[in-house]
Amino acid sequence: MKIICIGRNYSDHAKEMGAAIPSEPVFFMKPDTALLKENKFYYPSITKDLHYECELVVKISKAGKCIEAEFAKNYYNQISLGIDFTARDLQAQCKEMGLPWEKAKAFDNSAPISEKWIDVAQLTFPVHFEFYQNNELRQKSNSGEMLFSIDQIIAYVSRYVTLKTGDLIFTGTPAGVGPVAIGDHLSGNINGEKMFDFVVH
Ligand code: MG
Repeated sequence: MKIICIGRNYSDHAKEMGAAIPSEPVFFMKPDTALLKENKFYYPSITKDLHYECELVVKISKAGKCIEAEFAKNYYNQISLGIDFTARDLQAQCKEMGLPWEKAKAFDNSAPISEKWIDVAQLTFPVHFEFYQNNELRQKSNSGEMLFSIDQIIAYVSRYVTLKTGDLIFTGTPAGVGPVAIGDHLSGNINGEKMFDFVVH
């Protein structure tokens, strides 16, 4: 499986990063080794400025290529919540040199995802989500605020990359990203339902 991540999909986050509002989706990938399966996250030694980016995550349920947006709903059936951990210091270096972001985004365990998944059929849209750091609200948004909807993302990405069953799409983060520290308690919910809850070791 692969993990596809959308960048700058909320205008308030693009603004806080000093980035332009994109005219088409921006995507990058993380390998399967980025998935955090056990709920034990260790602050990675490669960075001194690790940031959280809480995001809705979509699970692809059917393989497809060049999927039309109007049929995209047939290609995913579950949503969860995850963190697109980012080594902001490394990313800034990569951006400055005009290089790809992989080492800032694709490192081991950079993609913790809730074990719980919610069936799309049981969700009310737009899907609201919140992220808390040490019980303080840091990010709050909903799928209606996305610049590119889930269906548009699937249509766009599948023009370039064949989507396979089990692939995951991180759909972008809203404003409020920030640094984490060892000992931080991170939690998130979807439509008020607790999805993940773990401590940075
Ligand atoms: Mg992100």
